[in-house]
Formats: sequence, structure tokens, C-alpha cells
Amino acid sequence: MTPTRLNDLLFARYGELNWWPAGTPYEVMVGAVLTQNTAWSNVEAAIARFGSSGCGLNLTPQRIETMPIEELTEIIRPAGFFNQKARYIKALTAWFKQYNYSTEAARRAGLPELRKELLAVRGIGKETADSILLYALELPSFVTDAYTKRLLGRLGVTGVSGYDAVKRFFEEGLDTKLYNNLHAMIVINAKEHCRAKPKCAGCPLEDYCEKGNK
Ligand code: SF4
Repeated sequence: MTPTRLNDLLFARYGELNWWPAGTPYEVMVGAVLTQNTAWSNVEAAIARFGSSGCGLNLTPQRIETMPIEELTEIIRPAGFFNQKARYIKALTAWFKQYNYSTEAARRAGLPELRKELLAVRGIGKETADSILLYALELPSFVTDAYTKRLLGRLGVTGVSGYDAVKRFFEEGLDTKLYNNLHAMIVINAKEHCRAKPKCAGCPLEDYCEKGNK
């Protein structure tokens, strides 16, 4: 199974998913931290607690920069690990401030430099960094996760393990324009079919999957 074939099969079922579900790039960044070790529904509950202003969600880097950490911790409580995550969001916001909170300015630093910088921010691991690069900064950095690794194993793709190897497998075999939607489709398929206990009947990959055919 090649990344392109996988993309085609999933696309035939799920189509364009328009990820990431957020109003601004900064909301993507905050969501990428909040989603660590928790379900997306908890992230949505936490994000809604920032409240709205006339022009959308009241979640801006300027507001978070000046917000006392105790207040931020309380707001994001539904996302779990709130003490840690509040510190991570503060650290990420301080990183973004170097670019005057401008995604355009950040993009000018280039993907390799930005990835290095993000990985040096407290609480930002590879999956979070790549989510920010791909979905907030619109740079071609494929996001991989536990769902992706599990899927490859079940499909029978061998010799690809570990975050970097899985990332390389996709980046070497896929048009960069497809990175955004393929990760989204893998996540949706993992929730609908390729769960911890797989529900293979009706999975769009069933006919091509080693496990699905056992
Ligand atoms: S056929 Fe089953 S094991 Fe294979 S990808 Fe689909 S749900 Fe997962």
C-alpha cells in the first residue's frame, strides 16, 4: 500500500474534510496543545470557555500573553492536564511573539528552522509541532500519530516504525498538497473503523488490508 493509494481509497469515502476545525491559525496552535492526551470533544469544551467577541472566538495571542496563568489554567480545565497545558500554551505564545504573531512572518523562517524552534518549545513534541506547521502555518510537514502507526501495521506495511520513519514514508510518497487531508482522513477512519478493536466491515480499506482479510 503506497501513501497515494491509501489517500485515493480514503478520499473516495471521506472526500475533502477541510481540517483543522478552527477559526484562526492561533486557535489551531492552542488546539494542537490542548488535544494532547485527550479527546477532541474535551478540546472543544475548553476552547468554548474562552468566550466570543464580536468577531469570533476571544482567543488571541495578545490576550493569552497578558492573561494570568491561573486564569488560563481554569479556562482550559476541561482539556485535562491543565496545569501543564497552560504552561505549554504560554511558552508557545512567547515563541509566536518573536514573529509578531504573524504566520506570514513565521513562514519566512522556513520549515526546517521553524520545526527546530517548535521542538525546543516546552511541551511541544513532534506530533504537536507538525500539526502546527501543517495546519496553522500551512507548511508541508506530514503529521503522524498513534492512529497512523496502527493503520500501517494493520495494512501490512512493514519496515516502517517510529515517528520519523512513518513521517518519511508519507513524505517520500505523497504530493505535499495531500498531507493536510490524508492525516484528517486517517484520524476519521481510525474513529469510525480502525479502532483499538477494529470494525472492518464497511471500512474503505477492507479489501486491501492484511488484518481486514484475516
Ligand atoms: S480493514 Fe480493519 S484493520 Fe484494516 S484498516 Fe480497516 S478497520 Fe483497520
